[in-house]
Amino acid sequence: MATYKRLPVTFARGEGVWLWDTNGTRYLDALSGIAVCGLGHAHPAVREAICEQAGQLIHTSNLYGIAEQERLGAMLTERTGMDRVFFANSGAEANEAAIKLARLHAHRRGIENPAILVAENSFHGRTLATLSATGNRKVQAGFEPLVQGFLRVPYNDVEAIEIAASHRQNIVAILIEPIQGEGGIRVPTDDYLPRLRAICDREGWLLIYDEIQTGMGRTGRFLAHEHVAARPDVVTLAKGLGNGVPIGACLARGAAAEVLTPGAHGSTFGGNPLACRVGRAVLETLDTDHLIENAARQGDALLSALRERLADTKGVVGIRGRGLMIGIELDRPCAELVGQALDAGLLINVTAERVIRLLPPLILSAPEAERIVQVLGELIQGFPGNV
Ligand SMILES: *Cc1c(COP(=O)(O)O)cnc(C)c1O
Repeated sequence: MATYKRLPVTFARGEGVWLWDTNGTRYLDALSGIAVCGLGHAHPAVREAICEQAGQLIHTSNLYGIAEQERLGAMLTERTGMDRVFFANSGAEANEAAIKLARLHAHRRGIENPAILVAENSFHGRTLATLSATGNRKVQAGFEPLVQGFLRVPYNDVEAIEIAASHRQNIVAILIEPIQGEGGIRVPTDDYLPRLRAICDREGWLLIYDEIQTGMGRTGRFLAHEHVAARPDVVTLAKGLGNGVPIGACLARGAAAEVLTPGAHGSTFGGNPLACRVGRAVLETLDTDHLIENAARQGDALLSALRERLADTKGVVGIRGRGLMIGIELDRPCAELVGQALDAGLLINVTAERVIRLLPPLILSAPEAERIVQVLGELIQGFPGNV
């Protein structure tokens, strides 16, 4: 169905940060399939994991033990300090699990009409519950009635949450992105997440991070919240976890980890041997190839180079981000830059109408980062009115 307005290009193959279209033209992929292919394209570790597992076992269902699911679950919990994982097949599904978990937790404590605090300009997915949680009318329009039980507050505004806390008795959780992705690479102040943690501790709410875009090393830490001291009760992952093989995960710790019991939730495909074997290969490669450190280093370099290059460019109102999650905000809509960049051999994205979004693979090298700056710098400076 016509759910996407597609760019006029079809890719035939990829290698590292590069993609080749069906005519043999090469492109630098500074988007990674929207923060998915952190290891780049056609990574040998991913290929080997897929091939080996396909030759052994792809699917049996969650009616039986799944060794690869247990292995990946152990790796993820050890790495994040969480206690348990539910595996799904996408980001939206991981968030659905988190939302169901928060509601069930509330009902078990006698709260019949639980509400979850969510932020303006947030993005949590396209299923009915997750689009209802999403703070973007365009995502919701036409799909009413929306799922009830979400209470919206401005992002990076602790006061708004304090006011909500003092007026409402039925709030049970905060669902928040540590950096807003689709919303325009919005980085909150460093005290934001710690203050949310303190409020959740005081009120007995669950703190749920949606790290579907920010997780898996993207921001230069394994999870973006590790930049500040504010651990979640629940955290969701997806995009970078399978490097393109569909997988999502909802992790929880403490009491939150014990909420979903047999019969409460499930998935036919979730946590299958193939997806989990690939997830394990991704985690192992992040370590063996020092990709999180690389994301931090190249991200810092890319951010400074862009700031230097665009310092005097009229129309650029902000350049921000963490690691290899970078946004360049212009003073007006700039969606046409995506097509211009494509013509120049560079894949980028524009989100929130006027924020150029860069999410390159975590394997990005210094020369490749320089090329992004060079091509993008020229395009932005050539954008009408920017010189
Ligand atoms: C992409 C994304 C989702 C949705 O993930 P899907 O796999 O497309 O369902 C949810 N939350 C955030 C923050 C995302 O970036």
